[in-house]
Amino acid sequence: MFKITAYGVRPTEVDYFNKLNTYDFDLNLIPAMLVHENVETAKGSDAVLLRGTCVGDRENLTKFKEWGINYVFTRTVGFDHVDLEAAKELNIKAARVPGYSPYAVAELAMTLGMTLFRSVGPAMANTHAGNFKVLDPYFSKEIHSSTVGIIGCGRIGAAEAELYSGMGAKVIGYDSHTNDPKVKNGINLVSLAELLKEADIISLHVPFVPGDTENLIDEAELEQMKDDAILINTARAQVVNMEAVTKALQAHKIGGYGTDVVVDEGAIFGNEFANLADLPNQDVTELMNNYPNVIITPHIGSFTEPALEDMISVSYKNFQDTLDNGTCANELV
Ligand code: NAD
Repeated sequence: MFKITAYGVRPTEVDYFNKLNTYDFDLNLIPAMLVHENVETAKGSDAVLLRGTCVGDRENLTKFKEWGINYVFTRTVGFDHVDLEAAKELNIKAARVPGYSPYAVAELAMTLGMTLFRSVGPAMANTHAGNFKVLDPYFSKEIHSSTVGIIGCGRIGAAEAELYSGMGAKVIGYDSHTNDPKVKNGINLVSLAELLKEADIISLHVPFVPGDTENLIDEAELEQMKDDAILINTARAQVVNMEAVTKALQAHKIGGYGTDVVVDEGAIFGNEFANLADLPNQDVTELMNNYPNVIITPHIGSFTEPALEDMISVSYKNFQDTLDNGTCANELV
């Protein structure tokens, strides 16, 4: 039987790995992410299946090859954690999952946006502490008569646009890669400057590309936003200059910041800290300590049942197609 060792399998995911195993693979489900220290757990397998922060570097791939493991697949869209050059040299096949339910991230982005838009976070914190006063900062616009700006109108951006349109909001978008300058995926496109000026909620769905989307939202862009604009980042931390956001929050230049991604994510997310001061990134400590109008979620955008089912089913199909035909549609090497 073809044996797959899958890493980073959370307890809630085990049933799904078993239920969707229609090909009868022999599964070795490991809760920990793959690192150098636990690589031996793959011994005796034919293949491994990774998650985003698993270490698929040359050192681990070389060991896999020595042990007869010829398939290193990832159940994620991104594959920068797999050394493809090393895989090619070692004649190891690699594949990924090119997409899963875009609503997973889109719904979280919308929830973060609406939570901040209606000041639910501070109201909740206050009522939990016994303060039931109706405070001035709770005064709000309504979404059906507001404007939402989507930056990056691909799969997830389009799904979020659909959700907000359903609530009656005016949705505008900005995308730098488009054949039609007016519309992309049903979203009316405007210039970045116009979007920053007009939108009450701005949601980012661009990939992180060094030198392109790096710090796409910086001091100059924050300056152009409305003073009560809500900024949402479920894309990648590097797309936003956090220092500039902190300054803008301090100066009441924006209304709030919601994010599912932070720098030094690997050292923070997945861990529990006794005190916020113990976080390895003090910018994050400062945001959490000083700003009730900041929400951080620990990269849970894709942690939904439909997205998980897509990730597992497509991965299994990648393995079966490769066994049957020597390749699969999602092959990387
Ligand atoms: P996609 O490729 O379908 O869409 C990305 C869009 O961004 C494209 O339309 C592209 O043209 C546009 N774009 C690229 N560079 C741009 C730029 N400089 N300015 C404006 N637009 C630009 O990707 P997707 O599936 O919608 O995913 C978007 C991003 O969401 C991913 O790259 C990833 O970083 C992030 N993501 C986050 C999570 C999470 O759990 N939080 C999960 C999946 C994906």
